[in-house]
Amino acid sequence: VILLTPGPLTTARETRAAMTSDWGSRDAAFIALTADLRRCLLALAHGEANHVCVPIQGSGTYVVEAAIGSLVKPDSKLLVLENGRYGARAVTIAQRLGRPVTSLHWPEATPVNPQAVRAALKADPTISHVLLIHCETTTGILNPLQVVADTVAAEGRALIVDAMSSFGALPVDLRTTPITALLASSNKCLEGPPGIAFAIAARDALEEAGIAASVSLDLKAQWQGFEKNGQWRFTPPVQAVAGTVKALELLEAEGGPAARLARYRDNFATLLAGMKRLGFSLYLDEADQAPIIATFHVPKAWDLTFEAFYDALAARGYLIYPGKLTGADTFRIGCIGAIGRRDFEGLLAAMAEILEKARG
Ligand SMILES: *Cc1c(COP(=O)(O)O)cnc(C)c1O
Repeated sequence: VILLTPGPLTTARETRAAMTSDWGSRDAAFIALTADLRRCLLALAHGEANHVCVPIQGSGTYVVEAAIGSLVKPDSKLLVLENGRYGARAVTIAQRLGRPVTSLHWPEATPVNPQAVRAALKADPTISHVLLIHCETTTGILNPLQVVADTVAAEGRALIVDAMSSFGALPVDLRTTPITALLASSNKCLEGPPGIAFAIAARDALEEAGIAASVSLDLKAQWQGFEKNGQWRFTPPVQAVAGTVKALELLEAEGGPAARLARYRDNFATLLAGMKRLGFSLYLDEADQAPIIATFHVPKAWDLTFEAFYDALAARGYLIYPGKLTGADTFRIGCIGAIGRRDFEGLLAAMAEILEKARG
């Protein structure tokens, strides 16, 4: 099957093959593998000078929770820039952890506005951290990372970036973009298996971190564990580490994030042109769209239900995202994973056939 979702994604055969061995989690071979993982991820973000890579067992949300609970202190305040579900989830996490939180809110089809961020920071000096979602996977909208980062830095606050659905494809360079903690996971643009989330965090921010809100999701303690003996504090997802290290090798062999982004752009362009031919329209302005996941309106005159459409595609081997996330009546198709133009041509042919049949 071809997964056309925001993750987990279609992975390469080599990546799946790398996960067939057992590993002793405290053995030298696995310690070396973990060191490779941390080094490669840090290098991808160009963070060698001031940052460290801290992997955490779990899905992406685990590291969002770890970062908020470890970096935002109970007497400081988080500002979440919210234009979708993942921003809303970050607010919920901060509330549950007892961290003071406020948010700026935009409609789902509107990118974050840096001027509003500047005004909010000037108005409230108690805000210590700002959280931005780089690509809001709810719709696929791209938020203006560089301008927001410069704005937050100019106001002397720390920036946490949820780069879950962009890291490995969209460019990010910690030498030129001031970010305190960049968060991502193994199973999106890195095209690895699910199971590892990670923070690429400024060393000084970790050193100054207070008491985390959670024992297992404690970024500072996790980092200190790796520094002490190269090992994970608690049982690591050994196969997922091996698969992700292989996926990182494949990323480098492909030509790095720039080459991967070019492939995803081609996937997106193929998909969009074909969807337009079939009568579908894109939910976002094309200028605001990242080539990660595309959201389409459900047509007004529609000969079948979305469920029937989904099932017919699934029966042909294409799994799209089974439901809407936006307030509007829409559906989403992912452009990322170890897939290319041919796969999208196959998907479009399957759709054409399903629509033809429904018309009777
Ligand atoms: C995928 C994703 C997450 C994490 O979701 P999980 O289901 O926990 O992996 C967080 N933020 C964004 C923007 C995402 O796309």
